[in-house]
Amino acid sequence: MGLFNKKKNYIRINPNRDSGPTTKPQVPDDMWAKCPNCKRTLYKKEIRAEKVCPHCGYSFRISAWERLALTIDEKSFIDWDNQLEQKNPIDFPDYSAKIASVKEKTGLDEAVLTGKATINNQPVGIGVMDANFIMGSMGTVVGEKITRLFEKATIEKLPVILFTASGGARMQEGIFSLMQMAKISAAVKRHSTAGLLYITVLTDPTTGGVTASFAMEGDIILAEPQTLVGFAGRRVIEQTIRQQLPDDFQKAEFLLQHGFIDQIVHRTALRERLTQLLAVHQQKGWCEE
Ligand SMILES: [Zn+2]
Repeated sequence: MGLFNKKKNYIRINPNRDSGPTTKPQVPDDMWAKCPNCKRTLYKKEIRAEKVCPHCGYSFRISAWERLALTIDEKSFIDWDNQLEQKNPIDFPDYSAKIASVKEKTGLDEAVLTGKATINNQPVGIGVMDANFIMGSMGTVVGEKITRLFEKATIEKLPVILFTASGGARMQEGIFSLMQMAKISAAVKRHSTAGLLYITVLTDPTTGGVTASFAMEGDIILAEPQTLVGFAGRRVIEQTIRQQLPDDFQKAEFLLQHGFIDQIVHRTALRERLTQLLAVHQQKGWCEE
C-alpha cells in the first residue's frame, strides 16, 4: 500500500511571510477593464469616450454627466431643481449620513439630473438617472425632480427625453418612494395630453418601480444593447414560478422580441437617432411650412 504512504508535494505558503522586494512589473489598476458581458479584458484606451466594448458592443455604465456630454449640445444644459433637500420620512437609521456621503462621492445632488438642453439645436426637457447614487433608486426627491421636469416641459411645450437607470424604489423612504410612481405618471399623462413627445432610453440597469412606471410610459422606448430591464429579480421569479428562465430573460433584446421596446440603439448612434426622432415630431413640422 505504498501508494497511500507516499508523501504529497504540497507547496506550503506562509500567509504571514514578508513578500520582500518584488521585481514584478507594476501595472496601474486603471489601465484595464473587464467587460461584464463578454468577460474579455480590455485596454481602457480601446473603450473610447462612449465606453462601449469593441468586441460585443456592451455599453458600460456611465455617470449622468458623461451621458449628458455624449447626448446634448455643448454648454446647452440648464440644471433644474438641483437644490431640493432630502428628508428622512420614516427615520431610517443612518439614511441622512448615507445621503451626505454619496453626494460627496458622486458630486451629484440626487440620483437624477433634470433640466433643459438642446440636441442638434432642438430644445428638449431632459432627465438622466445615475446608478452610482444609491443604485439610482427613486426616493421623494427623484420623484419630485422628474415630476417637475414634465410639468415645466408641459408649460414650455418641450418634448422630454429620459434616460433611466435604477434599482427601483428607495427602500430607505418606504411607502413615500412608491408614491412617486403615481405622481410622476400623472405628470407624464398631462404632458402627453398636451400633445408632447416623451422618449425613454432604458440604460443598464432599469428595474423595479422605475420600470413599472415612467420607464415604460414613453411614446417611444429605446434601449441600449444588453441592458437589464425588469421588475423583480431573476432569482425571485425563478423561485416563485419554479421554472428556469431563458438566459437572455430581462435583457433588452428579449424585451424587443416581446414587444416592450421599440428599438435597440447602439450608444454611438443614440444622439443621431434622438435628433431624427425629435425632428419628425416637431410641433411645427416641415409639412406646415
Ligand atoms: Zn464585451
